Amino acid sequence: MYYPFSWLKNLLRIGGFYVIVILIGLYFDALAIAVAFASTWLLGFYSWHMYRFNRWIWHSKKMTPPKVPGFWEHVYEGVYYIQRRNRRKRKELTRMVKRFREGSEALPDATVVVDSNACIVWCNRLARIELGLRWPQDSGRRVDNLIRHPNFIEYFHSGKYDYPVEVPSPSNVQKIFEYRIMPYGEKHLLLIARDVTRLTQLEQMRKDFVANVSHELRTPLTVLNGYLEMLPNTENVPPAFLNKAFSEMRSQSERMQNLVEELLVLSRIEASSERVFEKPVNVPQMLAAIKVEAETLNKDKGHEITFNIAPSLKVYGIETELRSAFSNLIFNAIHYTPSPGKIDVNWQEQDGHGHFSVKDNGDGIPEKHLNRLTERFYRVDKARSRKTGGSGLGLSIVKHVLTHHNSKLEITSEVGVGSEFSFSFSSELSVQNPSADTSAADKVEQLL
Ligand code: ADP
Repeated sequence: MYYPFSWLKNLLRIGGFYVIVILIGLYFDALAIAVAFASTWLLGFYSWHMYRFNRWIWHSKKMTPPKVPGFWEHVYEGVYYIQRRNRRKRKELTRMVKRFREGSEALPDATVVVDSNACIVWCNRLARIELGLRWPQDSGRRVDNLIRHPNFIEYFHSGKYDYPVEVPSPSNVQKIFEYRIMPYGEKHLLLIARDVTRLTQLEQMRKDFVANVSHELRTPLTVLNGYLEMLPNTENVPPAFLNKAFSEMRSQSERMQNLVEELLVLSRIEASSERVFEKPVNVPQMLAAIKVEAETLNKDKGHEITFNIAPSLKVYGIETELRSAFSNLIFNAIHYTPSPGKIDVNWQEQDGHGHFSVKDNGDGIPEKHLNRLTERFYRVDKARSRKTGGSGLGLSIVKHVLTHHNSKLEITSEVGVGSEFSFSFSSELSVQNPSADTSAADKVEQLL
């Protein structure tokens, strides 16, 4: 509450006090003594209140002022009013700082506030986790003593913050962070570090992919061009050489065609938004058709191939994709097993799941390659794989198809013993009530 102060009222009060003192002094004929006594009393009164006031301001825990008369009430209330106003402002400020901190904690990026001396003023939780900063221990320490990567130090001291810089995380070198610095306020800097590991990996994958495709296409094109350059002068070329040239050109152009087709399949699967739960796929029928193709392919190889197929086991999925996955695994077994080998193809129900496996008794694959087999263009033996016409995309296609169908390719292999490629579909994808289509099952059983 605001108390207006009246000097007139105060002067009248002091004046009235002295008039009474003078009258008493005159009455007792001791005017000087009365005035001296009254002035001393007045001085004592003011000094006493000054003492109380000082105690209240500096030592009292009570916020509310004591009850005092006159001029002093006005002083107390004035100070009390200012104190309350400051307290309100402080509370608002604290709330604002709290909200700002909560907001910064919720940021998806590591955030550090640095002062004009490069010392850390504040950092959020992600900065502690990702950049390895400790709080409050690192408060006031120079940021360039804590993030010591040369790229960061150079960027930090350059003063040019138009572009961000990419630096591995100090706590985990596998992670790449993009640092961005923004000057603000009184020479303060806001340092924001964003995890760009995935982006960097994607960028690297894109570069590798373009390099691999170019490399894969360049080899057959070089062979084709080499032969084509000779064609205008064929008079002196022996017919046997010409036959070899044409057969080589045909096989190289087939290889290119295969590669382009597999690339298209791969990109179609990656971009596919088809829902896998809508159409049931008659897997036994599909495997019967693949068996026919496998037998043709197996003519030269002469492997003993056994198909062990549950005749009515269907799953929901995308037929073209599943056909590509099943056939890739079966054809790979035929290609990579030295003849005469033994190949077992199984499609059976296991605990309500459709389970597919292709087992061969080929050379097997050394363990160090197993994790990388589904990478695009990855081959264990490049020369041998090229000879079989392999593009190195087959297992990558299988992996994508299975991911689209919520499944995963399992590979087990032992050098000198053989390999097994298998996967299971989740029970949600299995088609219930298989007996409804018994006639189709009978037909498939006959085919197999
Ligand atoms: P490609 O098109 O070259 O066959 P894939 O992606 O299908 O490529 O296979 C990748 C590599 O995995 C092949 O180059 C081969 O070395 C190896 N591989 C695949 N299947 C088998 C198998 N059944 N036995 C041995 N090695 C295999």
